[in-house]
Amino acid sequence: MLRTLRAILCALICIGWVLPAGASALEDEPFKKPAWVSPVDRDHLRILSALGADIDGIWGDVVRIYGTDETLAALRELGFAASPISDGRKARTAAGYPTPADIGKTLSELAARHPGICRLHSIGQSPQGRDLWMVRITDSPEIEEDEPEVLFVGGIHGDEPPGTILCLRFISMLLENYGADAALTEWVDETEIWVLPLMNPDGYAAGSRYTARGEDLNRSFPDRIRDAVNTPTGRPIETRHLMNWAFDHSPVLSISFHTGALVVNYPFDAVPDPYAAYAESPDDALFIEQSRTYASRNPPMSQSPWFPGGITNGLAWYAIYGGMQDWFYVWQGCNQLTVEASDIKTPPSTALDELWEDNRDAMLAYLTWSRRGVRGLITNRQTGEPVAATIRVAGIDHDVFTDPDVGDYHRMLLPGVYGLVVRAEGCYEEMVSDIVVGEGQAARVDVSLEPLKKGDVDGDRKVGLADAVRSLQVAAGISVETLRRGADVDGDGRIGLAEALFVLNAIQ
Ligand SMILES: [Zn+2]
Repeated sequence: MLRTLRAILCALICIGWVLPAGASALEDEPFKKPAWVSPVDRDHLRILSALGADIDGIWGDVVRIYGTDETLAALRELGFAASPISDGRKARTAAGYPTPADIGKTLSELAARHPGICRLHSIGQSPQGRDLWMVRITDSPEIEEDEPEVLFVGGIHGDEPPGTILCLRFISMLLENYGADAALTEWVDETEIWVLPLMNPDGYAAGSRYTARGEDLNRSFPDRIRDAVNTPTGRPIETRHLMNWAFDHSPVLSISFHTGALVVNYPFDAVPDPYAAYAESPDDALFIEQSRTYASRNPPMSQSPWFPGGITNGLAWYAIYGGMQDWFYVWQGCNQLTVEASDIKTPPSTALDELWEDNRDAMLAYLTWSRRGVRGLITNRQTGEPVAATIRVAGIDHDVFTDPDVGDYHRMLLPGVYGLVVRAEGCYEEMVSDIVVGEGQAARVDVSLEPLKKGDVDGDRKVGLADAVRSLQVAAGISVETLRRGADVDGDGRIGLAEALFVLNAIQ
């Protein structure tokens, strides 16, 4: 059957009837609707994608997609069973769930009642003019402190409203129990907690997965495989708002809430081969433990018949490109998990109390990771000022970053003995070894970086010929490539005296 399908597909692509995989949806494309498709094996996924289906979950040989009527018809032509899923909702906020306007009002009231520990601001508006409300909860909310920042995001898919409810309940719990419950008070005092309960308010208002412009926000972020330019330009407006917010802040730990399955999903979501079995990130073992921390405290999730222990690697389930969690990890140095909190996308509102009970302790337990590993302050040895620095653990190909406002970093790690390499522009690199990380609170390693000596451009602690050449190169605006081609005449990877003279002559 597969060979026949491939032949038909090639023919369709040749006559231009379907978009090849990866082609972007048109803005005015009719809204895609959820549907079950079967029987599907992993090889068939590429056919589904080529026919315009967005893959949203896989259980055995049954796949939930989002597709247009045309996509479903084409799949049936190819011999698949394809049946639309109806949850009985009309195109509006589900019964018993707050509207986006209700959510804004609730958040304003909460923030007004707790001015000492809460701030509310809009990170921007949706295409239909709805605010994307961001809540900040911490003691001294006007001041950046040496505290890990964490982020919860709900409602990236507008037809998955329970995540928004989990965010709202979490906010209320922290605010209403501050000063009364010691453990919750400590969270507020020692952490900076950010919550974006509803990233896609237009989709939420319409009961749609997509934005008002038909975009899937969890396919819209920079992606290390297919779209590796870390810029907000050209992306959906909601994505631009969140990226710009993230550039200004430094979350280290995060969750994005979805529904439609019951599982914690951890990076990576993709490798170059979309049909590979697993996408291991440099922090794979850490992500597995972090996922277990969450899933093991959520009773129905931990007993999942589909996902052992209630967790899965992103790609091991199915590949996505442009997802938020890979972006946060790769570019922001922030460990984000995708929590699928309910098999039913929009459970009846009467089920929300139980949903909250199942997730509350898991959310708090997961947050403990933000205070594990190694933390500290990176400062300039001469001025004492905080430094924008990159921190890399020896042997792990992944960077985390200081919050440049305070200079604090928080590198989560499993128990073990580690070495850190700290780098910052204009400073000598520092290495710290034999750092013992245990199960409890993070080890503290503060580092003061020595500024580069005047003229020591290459940071080798000597001002030599190479520095002089590089200085001239910078002054003359010569690219590194040009320098290599022009100056390393004998090709030994270094620039010697004769070669330097060559460069000087070339510049003058
Ligand atoms: Zn989702």
